Amino acid sequence: MTWSNWQLSPFVTSIFFILGVLTLYWVLFNWITTWFHARHIEIDDDTVNAWHGVIYMLTFVFVLQLSVVGQADSWEFVNFHLIAVVFCAYFLNIRMPSYVLLPLVIVYMAFDQSIFFWESWSYALVFVIFFWAMNSLRIWVQTRRYQWLYYFGAIAFFGNVLWYLIKVKYNLSWSNCLQEYGYFLIFACLLYAYVNMLTQDSEIKLRLAKFASHDALTQTENFAAYTESIKYLFSSSTKNNLSLSMMMFDIDHFKQINDTYGHLAGDRVLQSVAETVHTVLNANDPQVKLYRTGGEEFNVLFSGYDLKSTTVIVDQIFTAVNHLVVKFDDQEISITISVGVSTLSQEDTSPSDLYNRVDQNLYHSKRNGRIQITAV
Ligand code: GH3
Ligand code: MG
Ligand code: MG
Repeated sequence: MTWSNWQLSPFVTSIFFILGVLTLYWVLFNWITTWFHARHIEIDDDTVNAWHGVIYMLTFVFVLQLSVVGQADSWEFVNFHLIAVVFCAYFLNIRMPSYVLLPLVIVYMAFDQSIFFWESWSYALVFVIFFWAMNSLRIWVQTRRYQWLYYFGAIAFFGNVLWYLIKVKYNLSWSNCLQEYGYFLIFACLLYAYVNMLTQDSEIKLRLAKFASHDALTQTENFAAYTESIKYLFSSSTKNNLSLSMMMFDIDHFKQINDTYGHLAGDRVLQSVAETVHTVLNANDPQVKLYRTGGEEFNVLFSGYDLKSTTVIVDQIFTAVNHLVVKFDDQEISITISVGVSTLSQEDTSPSDLYNRVDQNLYHSKRNGRIQITAV
């Protein structure tokens, strides 16, 4: 085997080519989402997946086709196109409305110089239906057993029709056509196994990442996430001269709640407080996050907020929580909180400078009789 002569059958090369294209897709996807997450840019992973999927696959389809356009064997990449459709429509479940998909197919036909062939129009029509069918199938099979059977049935049916149309247009022999159709079925099975393996792996990673950054009881972000965020926000805010404020609150006499109503009631109180704060934050600014930094101690980071604009939301949180009545086993539990607030100052050299000031303010609220906000 040398660089100029691989000594491998085209079938084996194709398998590695397709697996390579898919692997590169995942690597790029992970790289893009990590890039966004590291910069705290709130963008849905599904949106990234859809755009990345479409652009990536279209680039491959057009670039590969460029080498065979107008030639008698310009059908050579059909199996790759079909696999790209299955990947985008079924596995990524990218929704392509007709006003996007149809013009795209026509642009492709013009590019492929096949716009004046009726076989190409029939092929394009089945191709579009194939895309939508794989879209719907993905949703439909979710509640069913033996998903792979439906997947394989759809692949076999559409592959059959599409390869027959290719046979007619390019006048392929039956053996050639059946061989390519067979390869398509094998590629589609490999794709199924490969993507399932990768998604299982990334789902586990996703669950672990959520587990590591979230508090299981209150569904808020945890201390580890708080440390990460304050580090990032402190350095980006000081560098770009942006405001950053912090609110810290602690439930008053929480030990008494536990002692009076029991630990489970205490847990329920923590959940209700977190829910209430989330509701206020979502109504004001969903980008602002709540962190559980201690047992009954929470922290909120207001990126881009000065002291004045922060206290507007802090007042709402304070009022909402102090009016909260938690029901537990026919008992009604009232809660109050003490709050400390402060904002980034020019003298702050590390996140702990800001943190200590907020902590002092919270301590001041506690010492002065609780149920109050200290903001300086
Ligand atoms: P203060 O007003 O000064 O804050 O008094 P406090 O009673 O709220 O404060 P203290 O620090 O004395 O008690 C906090 C209690 O919170 C003690 C601990 O058992 C309880 N706690 C910590 N984590 C949890 C939890 O996850 N669930 C429950 N139910 N209780 C918790
Ligand atoms: Mg407390
Ligand atoms: Mg405490």
